Amino acid sequence: MAGQASLPSTNMAAEIFRGGKMTEILGYYGGDITKPILPTKRGTITTHAFILCSQCGAAIKSNGGPAFGAWCVTCMENQGE
Ligand SMILES: [Zn+2]
Repeated sequence: MAGQASLPSTNMAAEIFRGGKMTEILGYYGGDITKPILPTKRGTITTHAFILCSQCGAAIKSNGGPAFGAWCVTCMENQGE
């Protein structure tokens, strides 16, 4: 492992390929890995309700809510530990 460059695991799991580029994943709706919470695209109309992590209470996103039962990326990675 010495001398080998590697990305932190948090970066590897928290990105998705969308619209021809890598997009950051902010969290997951309902703790479901197949339902990522993505940044709002420019020009999109959204609600102004926060999305909070149902496990640790961290703010996932400042708009697009409410989304009850959402999980942040950190809690998804640490589940089962
Ligand atoms: Zn959390």
